[in-house]
Parts: sequence; C-alpha cells; structure tokens
Amino acid sequence: MKIVVIGAGPAGLTATYQLAKHIGKEIESIDVFEANGYAGGMSTSLELWNQKVDLGPHRFFSNDETVNKLWLEIVENEYDMVKRLTRIYYNKKFFYYPLKPVNALKNLGAWEAVRCVASYIPQKIGLNRQDKDTFEGWVTQKFGKRLFNIFFKTYTEKLWGIPCDKLDADFAMQRIKKLSLSEAILSAISLIDNKKHKTLADEFAYPKYGTGYVYEQMRLKCEKMGAKIHLKTPVHRIQTEENKVKGISLADQVFVPADVVISSMPLSLMVAHLPDLPEPIRKKVAQLKYRNTILVYLNVNSDNLFPDQWIYIHDNQLQTGRITNFRNWLPTLYGNEKTSVLCMEYWCYDEDKLWQLSEKELIELACNELYQTGLVPKNIAIEQGKTIKLHRSYPVYFRNYKEILEPVQEYVNSIQNLYAIGRYGAYKYNNQDHSILMGIKVAENVLGIAQHNLWDINTDYDIYQEKTIITKTGLRKE
Ligand SMILES: Cc1cc2nc3c(=O)[nH]c(=O)nc-3n(C[C@H](O)[C@H](O)[C@H](O)COP(=O)(O)OP(=O)(O)OC[C@H]3O[C@@H](n4cnc5c(N)ncnc54)[C@H](O)[C@@H]3O)c2cc1C
Repeated sequence: MKIVVIGAGPAGLTATYQLAKHIGKEIESIDVFEANGYAGGMSTSLELWNQKVDLGPHRFFSNDETVNKLWLEIVENEYDMVKRLTRIYYNKKFFYYPLKPVNALKNLGAWEAVRCVASYIPQKIGLNRQDKDTFEGWVTQKFGKRLFNIFFKTYTEKLWGIPCDKLDADFAMQRIKKLSLSEAILSAISLIDNKKHKTLADEFAYPKYGTGYVYEQMRLKCEKMGAKIHLKTPVHRIQTEENKVKGISLADQVFVPADVVISSMPLSLMVAHLPDLPEPIRKKVAQLKYRNTILVYLNVNSDNLFPDQWIYIHDNQLQTGRITNFRNWLPTLYGNEKTSVLCMEYWCYDEDKLWQLSEKELIELACNELYQTGLVPKNIAIEQGKTIKLHRSYPVYFRNYKEILEPVQEYVNSIQNLYAIGRYGAYKYNNQDHSILMGIKVAENVLGIAQHNLWDINTDYDIYQEKTIITKTGLRKE
C-alpha cells in the first residue's frame, strides 16, 4: 500500500506513527503533506519572548488506556504533573471551577444562591422543561434556569456566536457530562467521588517543553521509521475514479498516486473538491460552519499575577472568553525569565469585524480588557503583544447539524480507501485525545485488523469516562 496522509496534527501524525511501524511489510510508503511549516497542528507550541507557549491552554486528558499508553510511549518521562486551578470570572468576581460551596455562596450571595436552587426545583420535578436537544434545554434541566444564565449562557454564546437555543445539546453532553446541580453540590462537599466527572479532574500530565513536544517527537519517530513528512505542502484535492481513491493533487497541480488517503484537512473543503460531487452533497457541505479563534499573547512585567492556568471569562462586558497564564503550567516553559506570558482568546466568524482587526487593534483591545478584569493591576506594564489567528478552529454544532453531516459522512464512506479523521477533518469537537484515538483506529482499519466506525469516536460520551489515567509515575488503572 502507498499511503498519503493530509495534515500533520495529532490525528494525522498518530495515524502515520501507527502505520509507519508496518513500512516494508504491508506498507510500501507513507507520505504526509502538511500545509504549515511545522507539525502539531493546533497542538503546536511556539517560542515567544524566550518562553514556551501553546495555542491557548492545552491540557491533555484521557481515560482511554490505548491513548494514554501511546502518549507515554512518545513523551517518555519528559512530563510533569500540573495541579489544575481554573476559575470563572463573572460579575467582577472569581468563582472556583469546580465550584466550591463557600466561595460560590460568598460570591453569589445567600439570596441569589436560594434563587438558583429554587429555579432548579421545577426541572428536578419535571415542570417547565425545554427542548433538551438544544444546549439551553439540556443545561437548564441539569442546573436550572438561573445557573444556566450565570454560568453557561454568556460563555457559550461568546464561544459559538449563536444563541444557546440554536446550539445542539451534543456540545453540552460532550463537555459537561451528566453532572447535575444536586451532584455538583454533593461532589463539592465530598459526598460523592468527583473524579468520576472528567471536567472536574484536578491534576493533569503536561510535557515539560509544551504540548507541541508530543507531536515534534512523533514527527521525528515517524521519519525514523521511514515516513516522509512534507511541510509547507498544502493538498489541493483528493483524486478519485469510480468511487475509489487514486491519489492527491498538491496546490501546484502535482499529482501524487496513493492506494489509501487519510485526510485531516477541513471536511467541508475536502469534500467540496472531490471530483463528480453530487449537487445535494455540495449543498450540504456548504452549510457546515467553523468558528475562528484569535489568540492575543501579552508579555506582562510580573512573575506573580494570579495562580490559575486559565480563567473562563463569562462577563458579557468583555469580549474575551478565556485567559491563559503560562507562568502557572511548568517552570520549564519560562526558565529564568521574570515576566508572565498571558494568552487572551477571542472567537468569531470570517465575516465578523473582530476577524478583520489589525494586530495593533487586537493588542489594544486585549490590554484594555485585561486591566478591566483586575487580574493585572494598572501599574504593571504590558511590555509586548503578538496575535495569532486560527482559521476554522471549532466545528459548530448548530441545532440539527447531524441532519447535514450524516449524508456527507455517508458520501465519504462510499469512496473506497478514503478516511476522514480529526477535529475539523471529521467535523468533531475533538480534544487531542480524541484525535489521537482517531489516528490509532484509522490505522487499524487501513491494516485490515478492525472495521471501526470512525465517525462514532467522540460521540459515545459515557464510554469516554473510562478507567486509566496518567500519573507522575506512569499509567494507573483506576
Ligand atoms: C484555543 C484552543 C484550545 C484548546 N485546548 C485544548 C485542551 O485544553 N486540550 C486538548 O486536548 N485539546 C485542546 N484543543 C484542541 C486541540 O488543539 C485539537 O483537538 C487537536 O490539535 C486536533 O488535532 P487534529 O490533528 O485533529 O487537527 P489539527 O491540530 O487542526 O491538525 C490538522 C492539520 O492539518 C493541516 N492541514 C489542513 N488543511 C490542509 C491541507 N489542505 N493540506 C495539508 N495540510 C492541511 C493543518 O495545517 C494542521 O496541521 C484546543 C484547541 C484550541 C484552538
């Protein structure tokens, strides 16, 4: 088999890594084509002002044994544990996340807390239920209307740019799990085991030199096994004949023959460029939407600003949605430097004004908003700024998106030896671990040792709560 992989992010590289173990046996060659000049995709790290940073916060977490084993196989012992501290900024106050009862009560006030519980009771007993297939309906049933408005609505609408009743419940099911207000309260006062909820995990393994270290190592290992990784080489389209993969065309029209193509490029672009695409499918893919991220990095003249790895900004007076403080990950990121590199996240669509702003305007906006939060006192200087724009970073789970996506998936399935994986590659709101799992499973399909339905990965939200974790001393079964 001659294999072509499109994209050297976590999904494409994992597939390559697993398949490269078979070069010289079932596999003749693997060529990876990557548009960027580096590997890692959105999970890359970069050097800024003599410190290492990621593209926003990148906490690796999985309960899946095969994913964790592979991560350890690559990272070996070049990682350390980070004690997670994250808070929510709302109404000029900081709420611990997961919620701590005393802090939450103090910030909300006793009267507001009573109103929150009171608004939960009708949901608990089945009154006033909204459509639970929407994000708003799903969360309201779990937490009541008041808590939905305080802790979910503003952040979610900033992230997705659409009202919560137009957003599919899949996003909530994936990220919030089955936690309800009653469970949250019981877990907060330690009456139930809070470790069973992924979103509440309080410690995570992190590579000493940033998230990108994992994929840089993976790239080197793939090359050592004989895979060829072509950086700065975007793929224009996949070529097929009679519903069978023939190869790919690069942007400069060069044709590369292949028996198998594994694509992690945006699903809508990949499908839109397929030859002889039926018109109904072309119309469907045109409806898939992606949200963009703008990252504004600020170099702040202090080594002791606030203790969180990141803070969610729910306040609707501020446009930013999340602030990461890389000073609070691992000391190997900043070495002897005395400043703190912060990253402020903004989300928007291509047509939004924010996406058109210049670097100077974005840095100005971020500096003003940062001072407004009070996280950086006004007498502390922000010395430098830099912006990075990530196009198509979030596939949007708009209401009933599956009705659009499923025919597209079926069409891709109908083309022999074509596999779509990854975050925008499979139109799944993946974390690294999901994309790694897709890479592992697609390799098994290509080798003919399994027939996984790859579209199912990151939809089985309960199984995802599984039983092994990475600790300081390696993998531990729970
Ligand atoms: C702000 C932010 C915060 C995040 N936080 C976390 C977190 O805390 N924890 C976590 O686990 N995950 C997090 N993620 C998600 C994580 O970054 C992704 O899940 C992961 O990188 C997805 O891997 P992938 O290989 O599927 O896609 P990508 O990383 O997007 O890689 C796809 C690759 O394909 C390449 N490509 C695209 N088109 C072409 C083409 N035509 N030709 C050739 N190459 C092409 C791209 O350049 C890219 O390198 C975060 C993401 C963002 C944006």
